[in-house]
Amino acid sequence: MPLHLSRRNLLAASALLPLGFHLPAMAAPVNGPYRVGAFTVTPLRDGLFPLEPSMIPAAESQAGQALLKGAGLPAKGPSPEPVNAFLIRRGDRHWLLDAGCGTVLGPGFDRVTAALAAEGVRPDEVETIWLSHLHADHAGGLLTPNRLARFANAELVLQEREVAYWSDAAARAPAPAALSPMFETAQAVLAAYPGRIRRISGEAELAPGIHALPLPGHTPGHMGVLIADGSDRLLIWGDIVHSRILQMPHPDWTVIWDTDPAEAITTRRRILDRAAVDGLRVTGMHLATTGKIKRVDAGYALV
Ligand SMILES: [Zn+2]
Repeated sequence: MPLHLSRRNLLAASALLPLGFHLPAMAAPVNGPYRVGAFTVTPLRDGLFPLEPSMIPAAESQAGQALLKGAGLPAKGPSPEPVNAFLIRRGDRHWLLDAGCGTVLGPGFDRVTAALAAEGVRPDEVETIWLSHLHADHAGGLLTPNRLARFANAELVLQEREVAYWSDAAARAPAPAALSPMFETAQAVLAAYPGRIRRISGEAELAPGIHALPLPGHTPGHMGVLIADGSDRLLIWGDIVHSRILQMPHPDWTVIWDTDPAEAITTRRRILDRAAVDGLRVTGMHLATTGKIKRVDAGYALV
């Protein structure tokens, strides 16, 4: 499945990967923890990345500039966006959802381990890590700088389709060279946890009250995690939105890292609509807060 990148976007993507992001994490306070019935969900802020409009090409427009300006940002960006992992706890059990960038995207990240320590959790105490997908800003933190397993006793849980895609030489061959680091990180993660990868399919139960929710398009096995206790629910939707400012009002605006942009749009519209209709509380790896979804004009808003 080819990655749909123009030459220009490819330059933007290649600029991102080796870059050290220098935005201080202090620039966006970390909300939470969030309560979901008996569950406690704590966002672990790995860092902030400066999202350039060129990473959402439709935002290189008057409409995009107006949205950025309206949010108090420079009209041509960048927009600082959080990179989060999540610690989910119930009673004496805990689980990790994603692991941040680690050191693979430069020196501005890699704060998940410290955030975990602040919660009293050592990496060797983590038994289960659910992965929304295998992009470097979610899975890089599973590796030490020497590309060994950072979590000595953890099992990784992810969609079968995600493992298959990043393991497939036929998928990598047509992908632009600039995305090689994404494949390298994904494959390094799979290699660093031999015998500790659990593949799931569809809406599998991850733990009592917690289910996987396949959200394909951004990557083939991209998934969210739906936490429910009684009538209290929270959907952690992975990378459905990389920019709340730009993509909530324009769900058709895709990021350059989507494996299948058309499917990513369909999935984004479907889940935004479901959240709006069901009154579902959501958060994500690139959202700084939780909220509910409201339809506004032809798009949506987080309220
Ligand atoms: Zn991401």
